[in-house]
Amino acid sequence: MSETRTGPAPGDRTAIGITFGNSNSSIACTVDDKAEVIANEDGDRQIPTILSYVDGEEYYGQQAKAFLVRNPKNSVAYFRDFLGKEFKSIDPTYNHASVHPQDVDGSVAFTLKDKAGEDEAASTLSVSEISTRFLRRLVTSASEYLGQKVTSAVITIPTNFNDKQKAALVAAAKAADLEVLQLISEPVAVVLAYDARPEAEIVDKIVVVADLGGTRSDVAVVASRGGLYTILATAHDHEFVGAALDKVLINHFAKEFIKKHKIDPRENARSLAKLTAESEATKKALSLGTNASFSVESLAEGIDFQSTINRLRFETVARPVFEGFSRLVESVIKKAGLDVLDVDEVILSGGTAHTPRIASNLGNIFPASTAILSPSTSATAINPSELQARGAALQASLIQEYEAEDIAQSTHAAVTTVPHTTNAIGVISLTESGEEVFVPVVQPETAVPARRTVQVAAPKNGGDVLIKIVEGNTHIKVIKPEPKVQAANGTNSKAAKVEDDNSGEDSDDEFSDEEEEEEKREKAWKIGATLAEAAVRHVKKGAQVEVTINVNADLSVTVTAREVGAKGGVRGTLSA
Ligand code: ATP
Ligand code: MG
Repeated sequence: MSETRTGPAPGDRTAIGITFGNSNSSIACTVDDKAEVIANEDGDRQIPTILSYVDGEEYYGQQAKAFLVRNPKNSVAYFRDFLGKEFKSIDPTYNHASVHPQDVDGSVAFTLKDKAGEDEAASTLSVSEISTRFLRRLVTSASEYLGQKVTSAVITIPTNFNDKQKAALVAAAKAADLEVLQLISEPVAVVLAYDARPEAEIVDKIVVVADLGGTRSDVAVVASRGGLYTILATAHDHEFVGAALDKVLINHFAKEFIKKHKIDPRENARSLAKLTAESEATKKALSLGTNASFSVESLAEGIDFQSTINRLRFETVARPVFEGFSRLVESVIKKAGLDVLDVDEVILSGGTAHTPRIASNLGNIFPASTAILSPSTSATAINPSELQARGAALQASLIQEYEAEDIAQSTHAAVTTVPHTTNAIGVISLTESGEEVFVPVVQPETAVPARRTVQVAAPKNGGDVLIKIVEGNTHIKVIKPEPKVQAANGTNSKAAKVEDDNSGEDSDDEFSDEEEEEEKREKAWKIGATLAEAAVRHVKKGAQVEVTINVNADLSVTVTAREVGAKGGVRGTLSA
């Protein structure tokens, strides 16, 4: 793989982090090791992923979004997910209010007038070309902000982007004169953004990243072990998304308008565009306040429309969508073979994560010990709309001084599919009452190779100590005050779809949404197979025995046991 260098030399790079979403994009840089999302020339940090052409002039971001009402035929939106895809496999649902995707030799293109002049013909542009033009605008904004030309970036991608999609993205960036240092998965960027905070403690933990965007929701269960991230399970959904919440409000206000004026504003494209824009604004206002106004000038047939809605009403009409978000999160935990009690943190990311109801519903699913990191549940939460770009910028600053080839070889596998342990490995310890309990040393889902050490107290009077190394797995102990059968709730919306399935199991919703169960559930260790026994002889009175467990890359285990402060010890290797 020794190609001649195509990008800039490490010393000549100016690197940023980029999030390129279907709905919004962001650019971020690091200043003194701290990540910062850059506002573009319009002052926006969430930049709508939209291009619009008016008299040959190109607009992007918020300005282009505003043109969706007056200039939909020359505006392209929701195209990121079409990169690297065949026309027959795309879902054009969200393109009804802007230029429609078309089939050009099996791949996706858009036809619009991007040049000035009455007689200029419309251009047919591939989705790659549209992406290149959009990325170029992001890079220009970042370069202007930084006062130097941005050459390189780390770009975040969904965990289910395939090789073709990745290659198409890298090529589109390259055509925009942008070197892609690395593509990192969105949930890992999110965890990085939190772990990079100076006050963050890097401890082993299970994190659920729920990235809730405009047109897709992606949830991942990530094991963070010794600073390495392993993705245990993912789910991708297109039904329980921000746009579905907009739709609820569109229908709500349309009905109100029909009642008053006997006209359905959804039947006229321009009226629908206005309704859509205002519904989204009202939805965002309801994330902050408990009341929001809704006002559109000349909504249909010249009639102005004004109304209000409070948060409670919104939460009632949008309830099926809110329930879908919760089920989606639960389904992924199940897919990872875990229980909500195994989850240490839930990080809400993406624009829709600002919605208070989503966070509070998740709070009801998880035990109090699980931290729910979102603006409405945690005072120290990072803005969910900025997490991915921040994580990408941090990664960019870490790797920008390496040669492209070294980056490609060293880092990308580390965060996705590294081998990891399934069960915990630990030692057996005796309680005062003489009961054997499992003390975990290597947690389950630890990326290997891994090395962990514990100290075990020797018997009071010293002597020979027998250390038993065993596997352990958790089970959930349920303590029910009064057994009662939980009926599946009868909502008609099916359990969240799980696309990239590797378990094949259906996630049936077995919790009642009233959430009134009183049973107590706790995680308990079960002692599994014995892996090894090590005898450490003649241990001094009151001494400690140190046990080190090495899980090697091939999952074989090496155990060392020795008395602290003494020479010698026992060592043995078990095959995988
Ligand atoms: P996708 O790729 O899923 O289309 P994205 O990742 O590009 O989306 P995000 O910016 O993460 O986009 O999410 C956009 C969604 O978040 C939109 O539906 C938007 O209305 C919603 N959103 C943004 N801010 C808020 C807010 N304060 N309250 C509620 N929803 C919000
Ligand atoms: Mg997103």
